[in-house]
Amino acid sequence: MSWELIVKDKFSCAHFLKGYKGKCERMHGHTFQIEVFFSVNKLDKSGISVDFTEIKDYLNGILPDHQVLNEVFDFSPSAENLSKYFYLKIKEKYPVSKVIIWESDNAGAVYFEEHA
Ligand SMILES: [Zn+2]
Repeated sequence: MSWELIVKDKFSCAHFLKGYKGKCERMHGHTFQIEVFFSVNKLDKSGISVDFTEIKDYLNGILPDHQVLNEVFDFSPSAENLSKYFYLKIKEKYPVSKVIIWESDNAGAVYFEEHA
C-alpha cells in the first residue's frame, strides 16, 4: 500500500536572477505556488497518515512572504534552487518525496532525490 499526499500553498515574493541575461535579471515578483508531496505506506486509526493541518501550519512557518528572496537566501532564488531548498528543509521533519515550485501557472521546477 502506498499513497502520495499533496499539500499546496503559495507565497508572494520578489526576486532577481543575478548573472542571468534577460528580463529576469531585474527585480520582479511572483506569487509562487508550492506543492509538497509525501510518500506514506501506513495509516493511523483515523485513516490518515500525515496531518494536513499540521503540515499547513509548518509551511506557514517556513515560507517567506512579501520579501525579497535574494535577501532571505544565500543562493540564487530560482525555481530550481527554491524547490531543492524547501525539499531539504521539509525533509528534516516529514517524509517528503518531491517539491514543486511554480513561478507562474505554466512554469515550475520539481525537486526530488533518486532512490538508491
Ligand atoms: Zn522570476
